[in-house]
Amino acid sequence: QTQLNPKYTFENLIKGSCNDVALAAAHAVSENPGSNSYNPLVVYGNVGLGKTHLAQAIGNYSLEHKKVNFVVYVSSEKFTIEMQNKQIVLSCDKPIKDLRGIEERLLSRFQWGLTADLQVPDYETRLAILYKKRDNMYINESIISDEIISFIAKNVDTNVRELEGCIIRLLASASIERQKINLETSKEILRDFIRKKELIVSTASIEKIVCKYYKISTNDLRGKSRRQDIAHARQIAMYLMKTLTSVSLKTIGLQLGGRDHSTVIHAYNTVEDKLKESQSINREIEELKKELSFESN
Ligand code: ADP
Repeated sequence: QTQLNPKYTFENLIKGSCNDVALAAAHAVSENPGSNSYNPLVVYGNVGLGKTHLAQAIGNYSLEHKKVNFVVYVSSEKFTIEMQNKQIVLSCDKPIKDLRGIEERLLSRFQWGLTADLQVPDYETRLAILYKKRDNMYINESIISDEIISFIAKNVDTNVRELEGCIIRLLASASIERQKINLETSKEILRDFIRKKELIVSTASIEKIVCKYYKISTNDLRGKSRRQDIAHARQIAMYLMKTLTSVSLKTIGLQLGGRDHSTVIHAYNTVEDKLKESQSINREIEELKKELSFESN
């Protein structure tokens, strides 16, 4: 009983600059477990970046190619000193010195080996991973198009698990609807994945989107008019600039017609208060943020 998942293979791991060192070390370890310069091999990285996959690929490969007779895959708590003369692969999402629940002498042993870290894959690698997942899941191009794949690759840059999550979510919707999903629908379905990403926008794009949304001109927005719809749009613009950009209150005031920073704070507080009471203003903000996220891509 090895407790290895057979789908975690090297074939299924897409290589990129995010993981090439770790992969090279993993291959070396799999070819000559125990007798290589990477013992122990420490794979270090954030959640969802492929630590489990890589560690298990080493196990699967070594077993399949009869490099070892058995593989033990255990949590660090269960890991014991008896394993000392064997190839050790440790994966962790913290620096070794911060690991808890492992004997001191093991910890120091881990420091001798190679620590290979896993990074977030770049756009090209994300694209390759998504294509691979689509193939592996036998999903036809007519269900999830290349256009949608590149939309995901462009917008989801957190970790690989989230990339998979997008495919699974789309597939679920496609089978409910029993039809092909178009790009617009996909954007809607995947909005939670996209929104999680911190929105990086400029004050200029906020102005543009707010004017378009409330159907007013930039001059109106920056001007002196107290007409209710214009004043409302202006407050919303200030609110969005304060929450979504790192620009100072003073600069926001200047951008919006040379108002001073206390006006910006007042607008911000007013919108915050309204948000607690009104559903419709919540919706407005959400819709504006969505527009901004598309604008910034
Ligand atoms: P971790 O252990 O670091 O939290 P996992 O190994 O569980 O991450 O990876 C999360 C998911 O992403 C898994 O389904 C894994 O197969 C997949 N994955 C990670 N990296 C890659 C990669 N380079 N190519 C293909 N799939 C990957």
